[in-house]
Amino acid sequence: MLVEKNKNYTVTIKDIGSNGEGIGKYNDFAIFVPNCVTGDEVEVKIIKTNKNFAVGKIIRIVNFSNIRVPQKCNFATQCGGCQFQHVNYEYQLEWKQNKVKNALYRIGGIQVVVNHTIGMPAPFYYRNKAQYPIQKINDEIQIGFYANKSHNIINIDKCIIQDEINESIIKIVKDFLITYNVSIYKEENHNGLIRHLVIRSGYYNKNVMICLVINGDNLPYKDKLVEMLCNITQITSVILNFNKNKTNVILGDKYNTIFGADTIQDNIGNLIFNLSPLSFFQVNPIQTNILYKIVEEYADLKGTETVLDLYCGIGTITLTLAQNAKKVYGVEIVEQAIKDAKQNALNNNINNVEFIVGKAEEIDFEIHPDIVVLDPPRKGCELSLINTLLDMLPSKIIYVSCDPATLARDISYLKEQYHVEKVQPIDMFPHTNHVETVVLMSRK
Ligand code: SAH
Repeated sequence: MLVEKNKNYTVTIKDIGSNGEGIGKYNDFAIFVPNCVTGDEVEVKIIKTNKNFAVGKIIRIVNFSNIRVPQKCNFATQCGGCQFQHVNYEYQLEWKQNKVKNALYRIGGIQVVVNHTIGMPAPFYYRNKAQYPIQKINDEIQIGFYANKSHNIINIDKCIIQDEINESIIKIVKDFLITYNVSIYKEENHNGLIRHLVIRSGYYNKNVMICLVINGDNLPYKDKLVEMLCNITQITSVILNFNKNKTNVILGDKYNTIFGADTIQDNIGNLIFNLSPLSFFQVNPIQTNILYKIVEEYADLKGTETVLDLYCGIGTITLTLAQNAKKVYGVEIVEQAIKDAKQNALNNNINNVEFIVGKAEEIDFEIHPDIVVLDPPRKGCELSLINTLLDMLPSKIIYVSCDPATLARDISYLKEQYHVEKVQPIDMFPHTNHVETVVLMSRK
């Protein structure tokens, strides 16, 4: 072992790892240091050692990198939400481009031009969805975010990536819980009622949905909560979500609307979408518009094509493409999302679509699509779906991915039959280590 635990060392950060941590070397031995950036010279205390690397904690920044910028949020280094608030935004974009390029090369064996990441002109207050855990610590109610790799809440009253309206909503909910002495859920013994506050807001349609997740069947004084929340005029929906399971999954399957509508609305391009509490919706509305424009550009529809949109959510990509295709099929595992998708097709007067509930990898496709769009969750596609695609052999595959590693793995299975034409990273999640990518593949 070249470095010892609890001792201090001074290292220069040479690179940023795939999770956003700085990487320095001490006599060629790698030390990972969170919250620093390439070019920083830092004195670190070693908090963990392994055979091949150690983990250090910053004691002092000896020399500041010129990539470093002041953090806008006081909680940035403790909160698990942002990893890059201390990093110049242009550099964040470059790092994300390289993250995609490296994953494609190292995991997928694919050497290809990766475009520069499309960033945001004003990368703050961009999120339309927040899920705040609620805890009682030393008799005080805390509503905030978990600290990095822990279930300890940091009491956050202001977050620079969430919709600013959340600040007043948190205050009201806290006020309600204190005034009516409502019990708060405890993970240790599975007792207590209030678990999470989930807020969803429409960016273009200024409407807000509040969802309170409870470990029970009813909320005492719920009328009072509604009365207090209605002071904020944008709130159009208050929902109780029931989650009585011992689980880290935030939302339960059942919910009850106690005020207003069951869904909220927002626009993407010229389309309007309704969404329920359990349905997926992209979290950055400004960048979603750009993301879908790229999907449209890559699809390059002439009006004769049959398209299959797998992992379609509430039908956002399906309906976007349907405007210029002959027919689009959407497949999605969450039943409520498919209900929303069907309603969205009606609301937007789009008839050349069909929505199917089911697992993308289990559906028995009778159709022969010209184009398949894939937009899976982080774990990527099942091998059985890849095999179906290799049987189906559409002329184009457009893969929208939120994890470059699984993207690279899945593309590598397709690369015998498909040529990777274009790779476009988009910054849907500024100040975090996440990146979204759209890939166009065409049949060889
Ligand atoms: N294309 C949509 C949704 C993408 S998120 C959009 O841009 O908004 C991924 C979606 O895949 C989620 O809605 C999730 O519920 C769904 N999903 C997860 N696993 C699935 C599977 N095995 N088969 C089909 N859909 C799945």
